[in-house]
Amino acid sequence: MKLPVLYVVIPCYNEEQVLPVTSGLFFEKIHALVKAEKISPESRVLFVNDGSKDETWPIIRKLSEENECCEGICLSRNRGHQNALLAGLMTARCYADVTISIDCDGQDDINAMDEMIDHYHKGMDVVYGVRSKRDTDTWFKRTTAESFYKLMNALGAQTVYNHADYRLMSRRALDGLAQFKEVNLFLRGLVPLVGYPSSIVTYERAERMAGESHYPLKKMLSFAFDGITSLSVKPIRLITALGFFISFVSILAILWVLGTKLFGQTVSGWSSMVSAIFFMGGVQLLCLGVIGEYIGKIYNETKARPRFLISESTLPQRRQDNE
Ligand code: UDP
Ligand code: MG
Repeated sequence: MKLPVLYVVIPCYNEEQVLPVTSGLFFEKIHALVKAEKISPESRVLFVNDGSKDETWPIIRKLSEENECCEGICLSRNRGHQNALLAGLMTARCYADVTISIDCDGQDDINAMDEMIDHYHKGMDVVYGVRSKRDTDTWFKRTTAESFYKLMNALGAQTVYNHADYRLMSRRALDGLAQFKEVNLFLRGLVPLVGYPSSIVTYERAERMAGESHYPLKKMLSFAFDGITSLSVKPIRLITALGFFISFVSILAILWVLGTKLFGQTVSGWSSMVSAIFFMGGVQLLCLGVIGEYIGKIYNETKARPRFLISESTLPQRRQDNE
């Protein structure tokens, strides 16, 4: 049997403190998997430099000169975690039979890769790494992240609970993913839509080995909002339902107003008027905002700008197929 070529795809943004610590661990893992005859000796670690402002790219280039199993690509500028990951996966698709994506900060247990590869050999196209517990995250990060998954699913964007972007994908699944042309990328929600046989591997999440998280609360909230509006039209439906409900309440209110008028008890209803105006104004603005969000997405999609551009690469040229 021919052993599969594995590419471990790792997006890096300003990770000069982390790379020297974790890169060795990734290389060792590749060597161990090759030795165990689970993957081909052609397997590689592919770092994606997401337009870092520090020494990340020189470090990656040096690592790739020193280690045969290390390669790197450099994006033309910072495009964010999801786009960097896509750039890596779409590049790896031209060289590998199977890819595993993982963050470079060592938070995700690399030993789960063995089990992922076993699942791949059993015929799985997608294997999701799922955190069994998040003791090492702060209480705040844990609660916000968990409520995020719950909200996403409640709103109809199906994601795998407690799964970030640590996952194995076969070439077939990547070819499927390549056909999703959307610019508003939310890979966690897209990969389940690709389909094919999939399974789950659980692992414990550790603390970041060095450096700091790039996802403060503000970025997390916008990520959550993006995810929901990219994958679900439920918020628009909720607005429609709210509209119906308010119309119904208004009919009751009109009946009540007519009743009081007919039976001669008209009072100067200043407070009820003003509160109704405020309330309706608020509801309408909110609804416009949500609808505007979707229109903004359509605007970006119609422009169909490239999702990433690669400026440098240590890989040998293969078929030009970045999209
Ligand atoms: N990252 C990236 N581009 C960005 C922000 C982050 O490629 O604009 C990478 C980062 O280097 C890391 C991964 O995405 O490998 C996850 O980021 P981080 O660890 O900061 O997020 P957290 O684990 O705290 O959610
Ligand atoms: Mg992290």
